[in-house]
Amino acid sequence: MHPERISPSDQPLSRQAREAILQAPVFGESFSDHMVTMRWANGEWGPLELGPFAPLELSPATLALHYGQSIFEALKAYALLDGSVALFRPGRNAARMAASATRIAMPTLPDGVFERACELLVDADRAWVPTQEGAALYVRPFMFGAEAHLSVRPAQEYLFVVIASPVASYFGAHLRAISVAVESLDVRATPGGTGAAKFAGNYAAGFAAHGRAGAAGHDQVLWLDAAEHRWVEELNAMNVMFVWHRDGRRVLTTPPLGGTILDGVTRDSLLHLAEDAVAGAGDPGPSPGPVDEVCVEATSIDALVAGAQDGTLRESFACGTAAVVAPIGSFQVGDRTVQVGDGTPGPVTVELRQRLLDVQGGRVEDRHGWVRRVDRHLAR
Ligand SMILES: *Cc1c(COP(=O)(O)O)cnc(C)c1O
Repeated sequence: MHPERISPSDQPLSRQAREAILQAPVFGESFSDHMVTMRWANGEWGPLELGPFAPLELSPATLALHYGQSIFEALKAYALLDGSVALFRPGRNAARMAASATRIAMPTLPDGVFERACELLVDADRAWVPTQEGAALYVRPFMFGAEAHLSVRPAQEYLFVVIASPVASYFGAHLRAISVAVESLDVRATPGGTGAAKFAGNYAAGFAAHGRAGAAGHDQVLWLDAAEHRWVEELNAMNVMFVWHRDGRRVLTTPPLGGTILDGVTRDSLLHLAEDAVAGAGDPGPSPGPVDEVCVEATSIDALVAGAQDGTLRESFACGTAAVVAPIGSFQVGDRTVQVGDGTPGPVTVELRQRLLDVQGGRVEDRHGWVRRVDRHLAR
């Protein structure tokens, strides 16, 4: 096992103050009592350290601040019905962090250490996992080039850190459809670029377009491919899905990954759950499943507009760890507003979202082994 140093905080937030936060957590604003850190230097990883959440001390010459060598992950810990706490598919995030690290010329973590770091933090901060449906403890692992050096080359020191922030259901009690602006100027990802990595620079590069969309009253940006500006890719931090009616069949589609799209855990989980429902459609039972077919296929912006207009495109939604599933009510394409269906959350969107939340919260059978219970490791 990788060496560990555990020093729990002797000044955790009072129970009263914590509970005030947990009643109405604001995304990314409050943090739990602890954090996990691990430093890479001289070609090797030091011990995994659990300690109090605290500011980092950095040299102004920290390489990541100058050249952007910084990647992150996001996953959630959920309170289960039986009182335990579980991470959702942490192994997928671990593998993705390793792929991002390799793309940005960073070292990868020793086997199992990503999951262990998340578990140590969630175990120490169990009391920070909210219990309302749809609420969770959002876990944010990240890694950056921590060497104090201005040479334009990969850092020779890195810091891996995990922090956690309690979050409410993204939509509160009322699911609403978002408005999405299709970006016509900037591009998010290029073939051979960094779009498939959870790389900090990708997000900064999208902020200007996001600002323009926001100023025009939209919630999110939809990115098209860089080469033709024609193929639908994804949103700033969410993948996109469509529900079509084709010859009386309900077909769920999402664009293929192809190196410019982030391989979302939520995307993959929803594809599996939708496929399970198709496979189970012939079984006797009350629920025939939300869709008849699941298909990974490219969608052009013209097909999206035509489908919305002729009614074959019935629903669309975005998906990612933070929001889980965000129904899309309309797309702004140039000066045209294209409404999807009746502009409100559609039945397939609502059902798939509920199925995923039910698996994550331990309310239905976990057929794929996605729910990883966090054991009690720390003496208290
Ligand atoms: C994180 C992210 C997603 C969603 O991934 P999940 O694993 O489902 O949270 C999608 N697109 C981008 C660009 C992202 O950064």
